[in-house]
Amino acid sequence: MDKIKIVDLEVFANHGVFEEEQKLGQKFLVDAVLYTSTRVAGKKDNLEESINYGDIAARITKFLQENTFQLIEAAAEKLAEDLLLYTKGLEQLTLEIKKPWAPVGLPLKTVSVEITRGWHEAYIAFGSNMGDKMGYIQQAIDRIRMHPHICVEKVSSIIETQPYGGVEQDVFLNGCLKIKTILEPLELLDFMQQLEREAHRERVVHWGPRTLDLDVLFYDKQVIESERLNLPHPEIPKRTFVLKPMVEIAPYYRHPVTGQTMKELLDLLEGIH
Ligand code: ADP
Ligand code: MG
Repeated sequence: MDKIKIVDLEVFANHGVFEEEQKLGQKFLVDAVLYTSTRVAGKKDNLEESINYGDIAARITKFLQENTFQLIEAAAEKLAEDLLLYTKGLEQLTLEIKKPWAPVGLPLKTVSVEITRGWHEAYIAFGSNMGDKMGYIQQAIDRIRMHPHICVEKVSSIIETQPYGGVEQDVFLNGCLKIKTILEPLELLDFMQQLEREAHRERVVHWGPRTLDLDVLFYDKQVIESERLNLPHPEIPKRTFVLKPMVEIAPYYRHPVTGQTMKELLDLLEGIH
C-alpha cells in the first residue's frame, strides 16, 4: 500500500515515569508512516482525496501535549488509536515515539517505541434458539454497531435452521456479519463473550440451547490455534448455517487454510460439485 511519511516531528511534552519529567517536560520526536491509497489524489491532484499531513502533524502535537503518559508505549498506543479513528482513508499506521533526552544516565542517542496498528476485517456468526431469539440477535447487532472500535459493514439475512448435535431443542436463527475493527483477535473474542453473558447465555449442555452464540469466523487471513481462540473457526466447512449467510455477504471470500471460497465450501457440503 502507498505511504505518507512524517519524520522527526518535534513535540515538547510531559511524558515519563519520573516526577521531573512530568513537571519540566522534554523533547520527543515522532515518526509516522500512514498507509493509505494515494491513487485517486495522485490522479486528480486534489488534497481532498488524500490525508492532509499538516492536519496529522498538528493532531499528533496537540494529542501529545494535552495528555500525559508515564510510558511512551501508552502514548503511542493511545495516539495510534486516536489517528485511526479520526482519519478517513487511514488503513494502518506505524508510529515511532523517540525520547532523545531519556533520563537513563548513560550516553545514548535516543530510546524509542515503534508500533504498527490498523483496521482489520473480520466475520462474526450469530445464532440463537431460546426465548426472544430475534430480540437477542438484534440487541447483539446494535451493541456491536455501538462499539467505538468496530464498524459493521455487512449484515446477512437471518435464516431459520434445524438444531445440530443431537440435542432435543428449538430451531435456530442464524446469520453473519462483516466488520472492520481495530481490536486485536482476543479483544474481539472478549467483547463477543461479554455480549453472550449479557444475553444470559447458560452453558448447560454442550451444543444445547443458547440465548446467544457469537463466533469469530475469520480475522483477516490469520490462522491461530490456542486454548481460547481458534481461527478460522474450525467448524465453518461443516456448518450450512454459517456458510449460507457467508455466501450471501462474501461468496468469493477464500478460507485461508483450505483455499476454497465460501460458495465452493457450501456446494461441497450440499453435495453439488
Ligand atoms: P460453539 O460456538 O462451537 O457452538 P461454544 O460457543 O460453546 O460452542 O464454544 C465456546 C468456546 O470456544 C469458548 O470457550 C471460546 O474460547 C472457544 N473458541 C475458540 N475459537 C473460537 C472462535 N473463533 N470464536 C468463538 N469462540 C471460540
Ligand atoms: Mg460459540
